[in-house]
Amino acid sequence: MIIVMSRFAREDQIQAVVEKIRSAGLSEHVSRGTERTIIGAVGDERVFSPDAFELMPGVERAMRVVKDYRIVSRDVHPANSIVQVRGLAIGGESIQIIAGPSAVESQVQMDLLAARVRESGAKLLRGGVFKPRTSPYAFQGLGVEALEYLQQAARTQGLPMVSELLDVRLLDTYLEYDVDVIEIAARNMQNVELLREVGRINKPVILKRGPAATVSEWLMAAEYIAAGGNHNIIFCERGVRGFEPSSRNMLDLSAIPVMKQETHLPIIVDPSHAGGKAWMVPALAKASLAAGADGLLLEVHPDPANALCDGDQALTPTELDTLLVELRSLAGALGRSLA
Ligand code: PEP
Ligand code: MN
Repeated sequence: MIIVMSRFAREDQIQAVVEKIRSAGLSEHVSRGTERTIIGAVGDERVFSPDAFELMPGVERAMRVVKDYRIVSRDVHPANSIVQVRGLAIGGESIQIIAGPSAVESQVQMDLLAARVRESGAKLLRGGVFKPRTSPYAFQGLGVEALEYLQQAARTQGLPMVSELLDVRLLDTYLEYDVDVIEIAARNMQNVELLREVGRINKPVILKRGPAATVSEWLMAAEYIAAGGNHNIIFCERGVRGFEPSSRNMLDLSAIPVMKQETHLPIIVDPSHAGGKAWMVPALAKASLAAGADGLLLEVHPDPANALCDGDQALTPTELDTLLVELRSLAGALGRSLA
């Protein structure tokens, strides 16, 4: 902790700060400048919050030296971490594509999509089971029945499955169905109970960025998961609330290099929920890889016009094939690979 004293701080006020530091078992380093005195609290600063000093007379400001997020921070783990999902490495040299429908609609739909997703070269299958829609009257997902369809299709094609968990009460069900990657999506990024619960298991978790969350709030949300012991976290940027209506969410490309600097954990991008329109997805997908994303989460539907959820932004399987061909050469140019 660094405590900056005000220009008018008296000697007794400086001493009071020093005493407070010592009483917590830390030591002080006092630097007396011509303008101000700056006091460093040396030791585990977690015992204090900055306002414990800012409320003291003569103190102008106090700030932490170490970031609040620790386990997820690159400071404590400089090398990239790789999250393993059934033998697939996310966060390594290889770019991983997760594809599938916004919502699971039937076994027929999932069987067809799983086969097409695998043929395109995508390595994981997504499918929404419980859908957190803006309107309570919109399709809410088929629920547990859909887990059955997702599992059957995924296992037949040998693809790991990814699905969003909305409610802590359903975690055991997701574990029974052996969902390989649990997605905590945008609306739940700061649902701390959900974060704590997925922190207790060892399944990989995709943590999507909330539409109005800062990068540091996002990292702190991940820290909740990591603090419980689960370090298998994959961040997913999916656009933030902007002012421009032509895209559903404003894809924050700059978050990718920022996250790469701040955390050792992998980051993927969901260009489908960012653009909100299928025609935008290829451009956003390419930009994301160029900015350093470790993978993409793409929505695909065999008949977007009749999709029960997010048809506007769904690629058809043929469009997915074309996009993956383009991404493969881009990955090569970036010194990465897309199998
Ligand atoms: C999803 O991935 O299915 C989803 C609901 O996305 P988001 O939380 O980013 O809106
Ligand atoms: Mn969707």
